[in-house]
Amino acid sequence: MKKIKIVVAGPRGRMGQEAVSLVHNTEHFELVGVLDRKNNGGNLSELDGFNGISAPIYSDIEECLHELRPDVLIDLTTPEVGMKHAVTALKSGVRPVVGTTGFSKEDLEELNRLCQEKELGCIIAPNFAVGAILMMKFSQMAAKYFSDVEIIELHHDKKLDAPSGTAVKTADMIAQVRQEKQQGHPNEKETHSGARGANIEGMRIHSVRLPGLIAHQQVIFGAEGQTLTIRHDSYNRASFMSGVKMAVENVMKLDVLVYGLENILD
Ligand code: NAP
Repeated sequence: MKKIKIVVAGPRGRMGQEAVSLVHNTEHFELVGVLDRKNNGGNLSELDGFNGISAPIYSDIEECLHELRPDVLIDLTTPEVGMKHAVTALKSGVRPVVGTTGFSKEDLEELNRLCQEKELGCIIAPNFAVGAILMMKFSQMAAKYFSDVEIIELHHDKKLDAPSGTAVKTADMIAQVRQEKQQGHPNEKETHSGARGANIEGMRIHSVRLPGLIAHQQVIFGAEGQTLTIRHDSYNRASFMSGVKMAVENVMKLDVLVYGLENILD
């Protein structure tokens, strides 16, 4: 089998380190380089924590993609950088697999347009954990029968965006099937700003940020005399890697933008 040539952006990050290790340990993947804003011109094997995994380091994405000609760019950075990386990759004929969260609707529209123009696949996955994808699907199933729902997402306190990409995606999926409704009392009033959380299509989303957490979410449905809670917990970042592998394999067969791993799970 021909190896899939991969560049990882954000290799020193918590997700990036796991992705480097995944690529290195997967027989049909080849780590051809990394994109890192520091250490330009060096080699990954010289950095702490990479146990001799060798890959050239680039800070300039254009130079990196031009010289290495990878098949796939895995991006695990920040929303602004991730968007720039995805656009540059598509323009250079490279398929992006983006785990970075916080992309706007406009970002997704621009990437969708670029994918069509270049006839290249791109996967944006706010959550790579298969259990989290199932949580979203189960929530969408339940929303047909329960129109009152609130989402509580809980993450570590280094997370930059709120609400989480997974919570927004869950609300979007629920909105597709849920009978439209503005929840809570029509005259409810916040005595402290933000007490009722973010409002997406009438649903409330609450973001908890605490050290000790990784990535967790519960979706609570309520109806007369009953509640239904659907919960997923990621206890470490390795939980995301089977989804990253699946996304890399699938993006090679795509010529469109796919937003959300649930669209490639059979
Ligand atoms: P992290 O540990 O903070 O790592 C972020 C990496 O991005 C670091 O290596 C950082 O380099 C780099 N970076 C930051 N600003 C940059 C810039 N301007 N140019 C180039 N590189 C830059 O974060 P993380 O926990 O790994 O998360 C990374 C992303 O993945 C976040 O968006 C997070 O929400 C998302 N995430 C997604 C999933 C999923 O399943 N899809 C799961 C968990 C997290 P420096 O060290 O130089 O700052």
